[in-house]
Amino acid sequence: QPQILPRKEHRISRKHINQNVLRTLYRLRDKGFIAYLIGGCVRDLLLDRTPKDFDIATNATPNQIKRLFRNCRLVGRRFRLAHLHFSDGILEVSTFRASAPSGEEETEEPGLENRPPRHLKDSDGMVLRDNVFGTPEEDALRRDFTINALAYSIEDFSVIDYSTGLSDLREGLIRPIGDPYERFTEDPVRMLRAVRFAATHGFTIEESTWEVIRRLSFTISRASPARLYEEMLKLFLMGSSRPVFDLLETSGLLAALFPLLGQWLSGSSDHRAALAANLEGLDRLFQSGTAPSPALFFAALFGPSLEEGALEHQRDGIPRQQSLDAVCTAFLQELRNIVSLPARIGAQMRTILAVQTALHRRPPRRPAIMAGRAGFADALAYLRLTAEWKRENQAALKWWEAYLSGVPAKMEAEPSPEE
Ligand code: ATP
Ligand code: MG
Repeated sequence: QPQILPRKEHRISRKHINQNVLRTLYRLRDKGFIAYLIGGCVRDLLLDRTPKDFDIATNATPNQIKRLFRNCRLVGRRFRLAHLHFSDGILEVSTFRASAPSGEEETEEPGLENRPPRHLKDSDGMVLRDNVFGTPEEDALRRDFTINALAYSIEDFSVIDYSTGLSDLREGLIRPIGDPYERFTEDPVRMLRAVRFAATHGFTIEESTWEVIRRLSFTISRASPARLYEEMLKLFLMGSSRPVFDLLETSGLLAALFPLLGQWLSGSSDHRAALAANLEGLDRLFQSGTAPSPALFFAALFGPSLEEGALEHQRDGIPRQQSLDAVCTAFLQELRNIVSLPARIGAQMRTILAVQTALHRRPPRRPAIMAGRAGFADALAYLRLTAEWKRENQAALKWWEAYLSGVPAKMEAEPSPEE
């Protein structure tokens, strides 16, 4: 039996639900369907946080949804979803479904959209028998964590809990639904999601769950490299990269995702301090309203180890740019089997690192041209991040900040230490 929290016992007010979302819920209800808000938005509304997005779950089939809404497009082959297009974004409306057959991941693998449907037939009745669509309860229990399985019903404005979401939410606990070992084996990305919710919400990963993550961390590389890349952005670009980093490191996930970085980190405690400072800088950027770019993030995470690797080559007499290039190429090559950075992002990261030499030159050559180049802002942002813990970067940073604010800079004709 689910626990049902009636309207007067919780604080979710319709004032905090987007108008288009409310209208969609009402329309489904008026046509006789069950309509729930589901997942992260219910969790965040109960916590008085602004949801990133709203998700709706219903017993209407994709075709029935399509007939109800003119702005509807059906997407996904394996799991058909309805996307309702509004001027302020896309609203996802999904039909209740039972858990995916074992071995299937929750999200569609990028690039597989054109594969023929495996379980879905066009006729709505067939689908039910194939056990793809499910009951509201099955839909809740297939989800990853108890706090992500809460539903808000538009029928009576109650919150429905089929597991222990409400009490875990009160205690600030991340706990998978069902057996942690099984759920993380089914989909290892859930380990990263546990870390993400713990870090962004200031929650604790439940103790036995944490033990399982430590045991299974090495299996993270079973997830597809493209999906892991997407997860990296969600983990690190949301303003909590510092706590994320700590949890990834202590769980063993960091070394499993980035073996070379793991090795470098275990080499010296200075290394950890450098990365921690870089990531704290990224989080400050986020808090000040400028979301860091993916390339800047990867430079912040990998840059210090790559620059150190390049320095070793330089000692063998190879020029800096060439050393850096070789080190980056080898690193990205190795990384590709686990986390695949899009080529464009990899190239931007390399540019950020390559431009550092020119930023240090005093006086810089043709600063106006440099400042106008694509990627300059990120290169300067990287200089700013590293200047926090690398004193020798502060002079160059000062020069550029003065230059960019239009104050005539005092041009010291010192050779840069890197040449
Ligand atoms: P955020 O606020 O970051 O968007 P969220 O909880 O909404 O967090 P989403 O990735 O948007 O997370 O997913 C929406 C919902 O889908 C989740 O709340 C969860 O119920 C379910 N879900 C997502 N990914 C998985 C997964 N890998 N395994 C099981 N359930 C999942
Ligand atoms: Mg979401």
